[in-house]
Amino acid sequence: MKFVDEYRDAKVAQKYAGAIAQITTRPWTIMEICGGQTHSIIKYGVDELLPEEINLIHGPGCPVCVTPAELIDKAIALASRPDIIFCSFGDMLRVPGGRATLQNQSRLSGDLLAVKATGGDIRIVYSPLDALKIALANPAKQVIFFAVGFETTAPTTAMAVYQAAQKGVKNFSLLVSHVLVPPAMETILSSPHNRVQGFLAAGHVCTVMGYTEYEPIVHKYSVPIVVTGFEPLDILQGIYMCIKQLEEGKAEVQNQYSRSVHRHGNEIAQKLIREVFEVVPRQWRGIGAIPQSGLGLRYRYAEFDAEKRFNLTNYPVQEEKECLSGLVLQGVKKPHDCPAFGTNCTPEHPLGAPMVSSEGACAAYYRYRQRLVSN
Ligand code: SF4
Repeated sequence: MKFVDEYRDAKVAQKYAGAIAQITTRPWTIMEICGGQTHSIIKYGVDELLPEEINLIHGPGCPVCVTPAELIDKAIALASRPDIIFCSFGDMLRVPGGRATLQNQSRLSGDLLAVKATGGDIRIVYSPLDALKIALANPAKQVIFFAVGFETTAPTTAMAVYQAAQKGVKNFSLLVSHVLVPPAMETILSSPHNRVQGFLAAGHVCTVMGYTEYEPIVHKYSVPIVVTGFEPLDILQGIYMCIKQLEEGKAEVQNQYSRSVHRHGNEIAQKLIREVFEVVPRQWRGIGAIPQSGLGLRYRYAEFDAEKRFNLTNYPVQEEKECLSGLVLQGVKKPHDCPAFGTNCTPEHPLGAPMVSSEGACAAYYRYRQRLVSN
């Protein structure tokens, strides 16, 4: 496939790996932020090509994984109502919620798929604009879109809200869980458990946001950040650039993914995000509250906030104690370090979101490394 195959060339990959080995003089730990990069690394064995001094650890860039259990429970409560059509990306349907009890004291179903199996009108969509179309076609129903994702998906969500406001749509709203990458990176770097010495930043996030917001992080924590794409050769080149900086004692932002990312990103998309959303504190599943790390609807778009429209209140949830997803998402542990990996936790019976999300690290190891791990 043109424009893809050339980034998967095994001979060129070997050359990159050799070049990395040549410049590496000591152990380094690098975190790839994005779950899409994690899957590429594990699927194509990028980590196995590298010299043993280089340790790749996996970051929190899986939006499904970091959506708080409390919001999953709220989604389940809303999707169970007969007057609601609940729209979501497919990944969210298998994610287990917490063990909350809502105001009506009824025990919730474990995930959205269970609600769908018992008759809930849950529709898998590929875009919030599809959910808006469903709202226009079903004026007698309330239609809710589960808005999860990083800066990459936020512009489309913002466009759906903007269009709904322009058209005066009254039966469309969002359950919002949009999150931002830079505050999560700072949380990891500030942790006493931090092992990260360099980052591969997520190319698609930077396509929207550019990379100027990483410059203060680089200066504050003296870590190189390389904006990197998703194909194996992108990742190997990003690692080479990162290691070169580390070996030379530098800490700069560099752009490996220049075929898509420009320094200031897509300013029209950023303007749209700012029009509809404001930066808010956000709870990250397994990690906890991170200040100024999420997007919430601005006051002028508050009528599209499903939590307000349906008067949902906050309540504590219990997360599955056996699940170490918080540590996996911060790179402190790898999936096979979790005692439940492949035993009590499998894609068929997940204890945590990283085992079911298409960007989850546990799902990547289970899918591509299970045989090796169990041997
Ligand atoms: S293997 Fe399962 S239980 Fe363990 S961290 Fe991953 S999702 Fe959680």
